Amino acid sequence: MILAETIEELQKAKHNLKGTIGFIPTMGALHKGHLSLIQQARNENDIVIVSIFVNPTQFLEGEDLDSYPKREEADKKICEIAKVDILFMPNIGEMYEDDELNISAPAIRGYILEGERRPKHFDGMLQIVMKLLNLSSSTNAYFGKKDAQQLVLITRMVKNYFIPCNIIACDIVRDDLGLALSSRNAYLSEDDKKEALKLSSSLYYATKMIISGKKESNIIIQEIKNILKCDNIKIEYISIVSRDFKPLEVVEIGNTIILIAVFIGNTRLIDNIWI
Ligand code: AMP
Repeated sequence: MILAETIEELQKAKHNLKGTIGFIPTMGALHKGHLSLIQQARNENDIVIVSIFVNPTQFLEGEDLDSYPKREEADKKICEIAKVDILFMPNIGEMYEDDELNISAPAIRGYILEGERRPKHFDGMLQIVMKLLNLSSSTNAYFGKKDAQQLVLITRMVKNYFIPCNIIACDIVRDDLGLALSSRNAYLSEDDKKEALKLSSSLYYATKMIISGKKESNIIIQEIKNILKCDNIKIEYISIVSRDFKPLEVVEIGNTIILIAVFIGNTRLIDNIWI
């Protein structure tokens, strides 16, 4: 594995390798969710590039930019074992100049739900993903359905800007009890983790309702609220939308995402299920 810390090193490393490129952008503190993306890329491409960059422009004032979990040495080992060809770990100066051109997320999909709670988050996310897609020259780029809105916006950006790269949507990886893996789970205490399991169990319950024919969104949302109800969970939103992020009054099988965002103590968690 080649470790590239500058753009020049990345380009040099790429120059010596031939074939299709699978790319996985991450913010590090790698877990099995990231690993599943890397393994899929390994199976489907000649070359695998992973980036680790905690992108400051997608964090809002007061969010966890400074405390975001960092495990650089462990991450390097994980990438090596997963047979990554190039690990790109740039510093901020390498990625940004002063007075940069900005990208704005589209109003409808970019400023609802996550975009409403975290204004400009998606602008910053799209900006860094655009840079990384261009730098990696990837044939295929892999993103988790865990960040559903992010995935939909990136797919749209690639289409709108004619970026020659396939965006591959990858399934959510969960622990044995159902908790969606996330680098931010590191912030959860044992008690928090028990509460956090309510996210996936409420989504599974919603799925059962749908299978049994109860498809009205407001009834499903109320049931999810009932399951999540406890002192330590503050619900930010529960939403049922189409795969294109338009609100749905009735679930459409094959075209629905049920999304949840909560605070458990001070930790913000998101989860979703694609129906
Ligand atoms: P992050 O490091 O959190 O920015 O995530 C990097 C990529 O990994 C994003 O495309 C995420 O959607 C994806 N990812 C994070 N957690 C999971 C998970 N539990 N299952 C599948 N993909 C995930």
